[in-house]
Amino acid sequence: MAFAIQVHKFGGPEALAYAEVKLPAPGAGQIALKQTAIGVNYIDVYHRTGLYPQPSFPFTPGSEGAGVVTALGAGVTNVKVGDRVAYAGNIGGYASERLMPADRVVKIPEGITDQTAAAMMLQGMTARYLLRKTYKVDKDTTLLWHAAAGGVGLIAVQWAKSLGATIVATAGGPEKCALAKAAGATHVIDYKAEKFVDKVRDVTGGRMCDVVYDGIGKDTFPASLDCLKPLGLFVSFGNASGPIEAFNPGVLSAKGSLYMTRPTMGTYIATPQLLAETANDLFDVVKSGAVKINVTGTYALKDAAQAHRDLEGRKTTGSIILVP
Ligand code: NDP
Repeated sequence: MAFAIQVHKFGGPEALAYAEVKLPAPGAGQIALKQTAIGVNYIDVYHRTGLYPQPSFPFTPGSEGAGVVTALGAGVTNVKVGDRVAYAGNIGGYASERLMPADRVVKIPEGITDQTAAAMMLQGMTARYLLRKTYKVDKDTTLLWHAAAGGVGLIAVQWAKSLGATIVATAGGPEKCALAKAAGATHVIDYKAEKFVDKVRDVTGGRMCDVVYDGIGKDTFPASLDCLKPLGLFVSFGNASGPIEAFNPGVLSAKGSLYMTRPTMGTYIATPQLLAETANDLFDVVKSGAVKINVTGTYALKDAAQAHRDLEGRKTTGSIILVP
């Protein structure tokens, strides 16, 4: 028997319904996967609410998981039955079993558990492309990372630290700030208690940042732009507080010929080669110990609604997972 969470109409956490489902046999190029752990990410909230609409109902949210290959469709040669694999970016994850395109999974290396893999693929590959591709962070970089105690945030802070960057991290409240500091942030700002632009000016001695990574969206815009040096890069990669509203690009010129990008992981792992390169880099930093994956919450699959309440309620830190 297989089980899945289904969304029949966009809505709050109560829209996540637990149901028995039947898995078809894998078609050409597909594999069947018995999932052992499922990652919970903010994008799952956007799918559930309809901010990122899905074309039809019911759909199963969830874009990350790990498990064991149980069957192969025609033509699959890159994995075999019994392999442990993980993926990120393919919706349909909140399920005990699912089908996946074989060329979108990667084998989990020894030494990394399924639960760690399910917690890190989406957030970790995001941190990787943001720090290594969107902007090439190195020891001369001063960066600002918002929501640094969150899933992507805690991974990114550790990774940026290993690259030698100066990291200014924001988080909501003293406990989250302490987590960001312990992960390697050079300076932490409790943006619930202080104006983060003023504090960024203080800690950088007025020099401000080369790059700002913003997954908050509405609430931190346009203040995030004021944290940049002239010609700095504003990376808007998410909308935890709601999307940024339309604005006049003249703002970018007025604030110092700024650059802006609105990236998504899908572009950066679009081919099997890019996926492998990105995942291998992530596995390397985790295996070396440079990046530790903090799984701070484990929920039964049927309790996905509670996981969403906690994530949206800003109650979680690090990564959280579902277990079928
Ligand atoms: P997090 O674990 O970071 O959770 C979101 C955090 O955002 C909260 O813990 C909270 O931290 C902060 N936040 C600030 N304002 C709000 C608000 N109004 N409501 C809720 N949370 C708020 O989530 P993820 O690590 O899963 O994702 C982080 C961001 O990265 C998201 O915006 C997500 O969409 C984005 N993302 C983008 C990808 C891409 O390729 N573009 C890929 C993966 C993720 P605090 O209390 O400290 O403020």
